[in-house]
Amino acid sequence: MQSINPATQQRLAEYPEMGADEMVGRIDRVATRFEPWRKTTIAERSKLMRNLAGLLRARRTELARLMTLEMGKPIGAAEGEIDKCAWACDFYAEKGEEFLAPRHVAAGAAASYVRYDPLGVVLAVMPWNFPFWQVFRFAAPALMAGNVAVLKHASNVCGCALTMEKLLAEAGFPEDVFGALLISSQRVEEAIRHPAVRGITLTGSEQAGMAIAAAAGRQLKKTVLELGGSDPFIVLADADVAAVAEKAAAARTINNGQSCIAAKRFIVEAPIAADFCQALSAAMQRLKMGNPLDRANDLGPLARRDLVDDLHRQVTQSVAAGARVMCGGSVPSGIGYYYPATVLADVRPGMAAFDEETFGPVAAVVSARDVREAIALANRSSFGLGASIWTNDGSRAECLAAEIEAGCVFINDVVKSDPRLPFGGVKRSGYGRELSDIGMHEFVNIKAVVRGT
Ligand code: NAP
Repeated sequence: MQSINPATQQRLAEYPEMGADEMVGRIDRVATRFEPWRKTTIAERSKLMRNLAGLLRARRTELARLMTLEMGKPIGAAEGEIDKCAWACDFYAEKGEEFLAPRHVAAGAAASYVRYDPLGVVLAVMPWNFPFWQVFRFAAPALMAGNVAVLKHASNVCGCALTMEKLLAEAGFPEDVFGALLISSQRVEEAIRHPAVRGITLTGSEQAGMAIAAAAGRQLKKTVLELGGSDPFIVLADADVAAVAEKAAAARTINNGQSCIAAKRFIVEAPIAADFCQALSAAMQRLKMGNPLDRANDLGPLARRDLVDDLHRQVTQSVAAGARVMCGGSVPSGIGYYYPATVLADVRPGMAAFDEETFGPVAAVVSARDVREAIALANRSSFGLGASIWTNDGSRAECLAAEIEAGCVFINDVVKSDPRLPFGGVKRSGYGRELSDIGMHEFVNIKAVVRGT
């Protein structure tokens, strides 16, 4: 397993994969921590969570740099990601007590209520695109709830995985409450089979989702799946084209375009479609691509060479099927896994840029006859993660939100995750939720207690 800097193509580090006994031993050690950890008070766990938030803030510069080196995100975005992790720790430190408090239900008994008890070891299989945030958004609520956790991180960000393990120890969490498993994806089923593992959370591709859900199903273990997306960005005819096009460029290129909730299909009402396409192309061309450690740059490289190849295949196949390149669309020569900000016009269902998830800075613009066709096109996707609607009529958009098949709908705002709100998808974007109280309740035993007398 190795980390390669995608901006320079230089190898940063190599990590030996854990053997079978080593992996089982690691899970065993984490499992033995469960009983003492679940018995700690919520106040004790909150204190450690706040320590962790403080440590993240204190080491922000170094941690952000590690992410940028391992997977290429712009350094400013990496710093923002560390801040968000600290926010999630503080949020669960503050809200843990409220979210885990027994909920009383009148059921004709002397006492009847619902308890939220921890389950045991939660296995997290995580992607490289937000190497810290994806881990913290599962780990903060899971640990606050009294669970212990093991992390199988993406193979290209082992440095981040090991650093997070150390951070928790430095924050004062008992040793082995959280442990990294350095294993390849082929070994995940072995980890799922470990009897102490009680639940599995995956953030990743559909392929990984199908494999993990099947393996967990064979063991009758619960899963939460946060998978891909092809979020529609719906622009109605009354929207301010210039202002919305700026937001559209930002929404498409967040994290160099490698975000599950980046806007991917720009569905625009016909009267403004041509103007919007021009304005979006202009905004995309203003973005500066280059070394992600240089704050002057907006776009860094994609994380791996194969991601560039796959994105370019989607662009060329869409163009062969009738899409028009407004800007970008070719792989630059030179060092680094770069792909330019690209806008494709005249995209229709049946083209790769419409049907598949494009994981890079490629915007597919689709013209819709009217609002009815816009909603139908938005829903004509196998995915259902996020969606946004842009209009001067917010109330009308709230009515339309009810018709959209997605886990969240943002009106006149870019889709983003927030510890206070549930996050997740429908259809092939997965199932279950992360964040908020709802996410915290995914990996607990929701236990009814009834006292007759
Ligand atoms: P990926 O290839 O599915 O990898 C994600 C994780 O799953 C990695 O740890 C990977 O390990 C592991 N994995 C891959 N195939 C597996 C298999 N067959 N069995 C068990 N584990 C397997 O995805 P990615 O390329 O890293 O990340 C991009 C995908 O994640 C996109 O589709 C994106 O939309 C999605 N994503 C979703 C969300 C969300 O919240 N919904 C957020 C971020 C990203 P290795 O690295 O060792 O292969």
